[in-house]
Amino acid sequence: MTRKTGAMTNAPSQPGGILHPDTLAVASGRPDRQPDAPLNHPITAASTYVADGALGYGRYGNPGWSALEETIGALEGGLATTFSSGMAAAHAALESLPRGARVVLPANCYLGVAALVANRAERGDLEMVTVAVDDTAAVLAAADGADLVWLESPTNPMMEVADLPAIGSALADTPTKLLVDNTFATPILQRPFEVGADLVLHSATKFLSGHSDALLGALLTRDPDDRAVHDQVRRSQGAVPGALETYLVLRGLRTLPLRVRHAAESARILAERLADAPGIVRIRHPGTGSLLAVELADAASADRLVHGTRLWVNTTSLGGVESTFERRRRWAAELPNVPEGLVRMSVGLEHVEDLWQDLRTALG
Ligand SMILES: *Cc1c(COP(=O)(O)O)cnc(C)c1O
Repeated sequence: MTRKTGAMTNAPSQPGGILHPDTLAVASGRPDRQPDAPLNHPITAASTYVADGALGYGRYGNPGWSALEETIGALEGGLATTFSSGMAAAHAALESLPRGARVVLPANCYLGVAALVANRAERGDLEMVTVAVDDTAAVLAAADGADLVWLESPTNPMMEVADLPAIGSALADTPTKLLVDNTFATPILQRPFEVGADLVLHSATKFLSGHSDALLGALLTRDPDDRAVHDQVRRSQGAVPGALETYLVLRGLRTLPLRVRHAAESARILAERLADAPGIVRIRHPGTGSLLAVELADAASADRLVHGTRLWVNTTSLGGVESTFERRRRWAAELPNVPEGLVRMSVGLEHVEDLWQDLRTALG
């Protein structure tokens, strides 16, 4: 099998050692060190380039994309292609499948992906099978004969965790490809390629960017042929990242390891305290990472919480420096499996005691 080749990136390295993620986040995607070179790639606002070069046209390439892809690729250990959003990257992942392909999808997953795959299935482009990602035997049974197993772990917003090493090794010598949406865990907490994933997806809109100011997506592979397909899909669909967004996400990435670790520690403390807090029926926290979901008795109690805070922002999206939360079922498209009283929480970088006081007041 040639599928599980070694890491293929242009990431910086040093003699006698692989660099740590903290270093890769800072040192990757930099201009060459020449006198007076800037330390950061400037924003290249270009719809076109003078002929006879490698880029040619603004939809085919941008120096900022390459710098960002080098950095995301270094952190995940794969070859990245960036897109205008996480959903554009998800489209690109489906685009490479043959007509009629069978896709295994989590029963609970990001609602945009669920709607996209269901829509393709309704049109007859592919066959969709859904499965509980935390039931490994069920995942493997569904994977038998499938073209693609699409996993989220932890899942959005139910926070279920899949046994990625077990699933990855079971699929290793099969033609079934494994995609992991690593948006929630980030490469700081989980590197799916190391446990057998073929594709890794990111909504870089969330943690990679980290400042709630840009939409961007990435699709990664370890196979250069796959990378070429992803690049081709981006050219033809035209869902290219904007120059400013590309710059913002790379700037945000520099601090990803620090942000993720700090917020995860605050989330651990808050999860512990929320377990004994009035009105909280259940906590879903995978034990690592800065995302959790709390269940309140009903929609009204959950609405009171999200409208009762001064620091926590009632908003969708996650992974920013600001602590944010929302009652997921306020969205008509959210899957009916999600309880009405479930509030998804994204812990940010404010002081944990301030965050706790704010929640305690709102819970009454
Ligand atoms: C937000 C999200 C997406 C979609 O990404 P966009 O950047 O909003 O298009 C995909 N997967 C997960 C897990 C997400 O949270």
